[in-house]
Amino acid sequence: MGEQADSYEEIRKSVRALCTQFPGSYWRELDRDRAYPKAFVDALTKAGFLSALIPEEYGGSGLSLSAAAAILEEVQAAGCNGAACHAQMYMMGTLLRHGSAAQKRKYLPEIAAGKIRLQAFGVTEPGSGTDTLSIATTAKRDGANYVVNGQKIWTSRAEHSDLMLLLARTTPKEAIKKRSEGLSVFLVDMREAAGKGLTIRPIRTMMNHATTEIFIENLRIPAENLIGEEGQGFRYVLSGMNAERILIAAECVGDAKWFIEKAVSYAKERNVFARPIGQNQGVQFPIARSYAQMRAAELMVVEAAKRYERGEDCGEEANLAKLLAADASWAAADMCVQTHGGFGFAEEYDIERKFRETRLYQVAPVSTNLILSFLAEHVLGLPRSY
Ligand SMILES: Cc1cc2nc3c(=O)[nH]c(=O)nc-3n(C[C@H](O)[C@H](O)[C@H](O)COP(=O)(O)OP(=O)(O)OC[C@H]3O[C@@H](n4cnc5c(N)ncnc54)[C@H](O)[C@@H]3O)c2cc1C
Repeated sequence: MGEQADSYEEIRKSVRALCTQFPGSYWRELDRDRAYPKAFVDALTKAGFLSALIPEEYGGSGLSLSAAAAILEEVQAAGCNGAACHAQMYMMGTLLRHGSAAQKRKYLPEIAAGKIRLQAFGVTEPGSGTDTLSIATTAKRDGANYVVNGQKIWTSRAEHSDLMLLLARTTPKEAIKKRSEGLSVFLVDMREAAGKGLTIRPIRTMMNHATTEIFIENLRIPAENLIGEEGQGFRYVLSGMNAERILIAAECVGDAKWFIEKAVSYAKERNVFARPIGQNQGVQFPIARSYAQMRAAELMVVEAAKRYERGEDCGEEANLAKLLAADASWAAADMCVQTHGGFGFAEEYDIERKFRETRLYQVAPVSTNLILSFLAEHVLGLPRSY
């Protein structure tokens, strides 16, 4: 569907082949039990797709962001769900760009080999979602350790990850000169932390997302697990956000493709009034509109990824890609339900599941309003709102 705006046809083909082993019935069963797609994540890891962005010197495949986007797009377009593991791709950037040589040597080869998982990203707190600079979790230096206290919420995949990137305040708000300073990023080894100040509690959500809340009480983290410089954590997290937005946008494009393909084939075969419903323009046009939205979003994802790879500022394009793609996937989801009539609500068609899954991207990892606010202020020069 739609000529690919980039290449990576070989990669796409292998991802598609892998995904055929994980049909709708696999995902439906997990969805009912809210279970983690371990077999799927293991297969993606074994095939090397999750270490696409890890440089070859650390055992990864050293591919570009565009290639990683192609992988995640195909996963979604095949009806699977990369949300179980996508963070491993975009969180890697923080460790790669700001981690020390020793940290990279210690963790990256094991991650690339699939021995350990880095899939949990603890930023959001009950009192601060959108407003990251207000996080209240603290990390205080005590000899060779930091002692961490606080609470995180919506920390996805925490129960299925060995490592977590944790954002905590190391300098009180009152003592900092610049609002964006005073936060630090730590690499928490959850295997060591479990039961020693770290408690993970799952949150049941609209879709099968393995998300959790985390309670942290006097957790000791070795100082060598601080990433980069103390107090610069917000900058490090921000610098990874463009990659995150581009990759999530690629997933949304994949979702939109899945919904459109489902709708097209159903509209051709479902006969009402003795003719296919797809013969009615009232049914055709919403599908065609979805296709147009998806293609526009796809082009913006490609453009954003190219700028990112050239090392250019891609804040505008990454945000546009995320906005357009999340809107396109949500519109396609709604269209697909409508095209299927009552069957759109039946579990066995997978549409209602994908509909629930793709809804998330209007809110996380950044909500649509916040993107609009970024565009208004930073691209269009409108007055700052908050
Ligand atoms: C399933 C799931 C998985 C997640 N996974 C992770 C994870 O792994 N790690 C992690 O750290 N976080 C995660 N999140 C958190 C996610 O990033 C936040 O939910 C998101 O950033 C929004 O924060 P909030 O929920 O606190 O909403 P709030 O900040 O309370 O905002 C509520 C609403 O108000 C709007 N709003 C707020 N301020 C403004 C404003 N100034 N102008 C206009 N509108 C505004 C927002 O757009 C939003 O729609 C996850 C969330 C979910 C639901």
